[in-house]
Amino acid sequence: MNEALLEVKDLTVKYVTDLETVHAVNRISFSLGRGQTIGLVGETGAGKTTTALSIMRLLPERTGKVTGGEIRFAGQDLLAMPEHEMQAIRGEKIAMIFQDPMTSLNPVMTVGDQIAEALDLHNDQGRSREQIQERVDEVLSMVGIPPQRKSEYPHQFSGGMKQRVVIAIALACEPELLIADEPTTALDVTIQAQVISMIRELRDRLQTAMIMITHDLGIVAQTCDNVAVMYAGALIEIGSAEDIFLGGDHHPYTVGLFGSIPNLRSKAKRLTPIPGLMPDPTHLPEGCSFSPRCPHATEQCRTAPPAVYTRGSHRICCHLFADREGWKEDA
Ligand code: SF4
Repeated sequence: MNEALLEVKDLTVKYVTDLETVHAVNRISFSLGRGQTIGLVGETGAGKTTTALSIMRLLPERTGKVTGGEIRFAGQDLLAMPEHEMQAIRGEKIAMIFQDPMTSLNPVMTVGDQIAEALDLHNDQGRSREQIQERVDEVLSMVGIPPQRKSEYPHQFSGGMKQRVVIAIALACEPELLIADEPTTALDVTIQAQVISMIRELRDRLQTAMIMITHDLGIVAQTCDNVAVMYAGALIEIGSAEDIFLGGDHHPYTVGLFGSIPNLRSKAKRLTPIPGLMPDPTHLPEGCSFSPRCPHATEQCRTAPPAVYTRGSHRICCHLFADREGWKEDA
């Protein structure tokens, strides 16, 4: 990886209520270079969105707590930063595209005003009203929406067009890091393909670093340089896209993820779902969290948490790799 723009180290996040504690993210570490894209993949409840909200410092105020670790962005410690400084970073240097464009947009503001509002909030360059309107036109054109439509309201746009507006708002200030949280989940398949190729093209043009959160391995293969697989709040495998898509060694959960997606080249007649469900995050199993669902689980897996094993930049957290050739325990 080139010089790290974002470094997440041993991040641990809990949701604490009077009744229970949810162990949402458990000591995850990864880094991201400028202009690079990392895919965060895993089932619903794996901790992907909580990781993103922690980076944005948007965890629910009363219950969400970062209880350990560090998040450094361009060398600055985001978790130690006063809220007013974080507000200057949020939207301008780090922007997020949320899952559902219907709830991300204000229904009583024109789309042009919503983009202008983002520019106005972070107007370090002292743009005049005319210059802000010019920039609104520019970003609308960038996402393929004719600027004449800026005076229309969100309900006048289709689902795919609304998501383009959300992307235009996120990109208006040219952030250094863009977090896209399931950006195409609410869209139908043909529109998904258009939106993904547009995000890719804009990322390449603007050299924006990106975290792509998805459970769709196809999207990851099309967009990401590196891939991090999360399970029950932990990062169980991370590597380059080649390691994950072309390499032979994988965490049993990653093998399960690949087995549960359609592959036209595979001779298998049926998909192989991963049996069982993600463990209850208020009571994670002792040992390896995947052990209740893993076909290779042993007594050791049920009692002792596995170490992380590495081969080059590829890291896997699983007892199976303790004596596998070419792999060594992470110091
Ligand atoms: Fe399966 Fe054991 Fe590896 Fe966990 S540590 S993934 S249970 S083999």
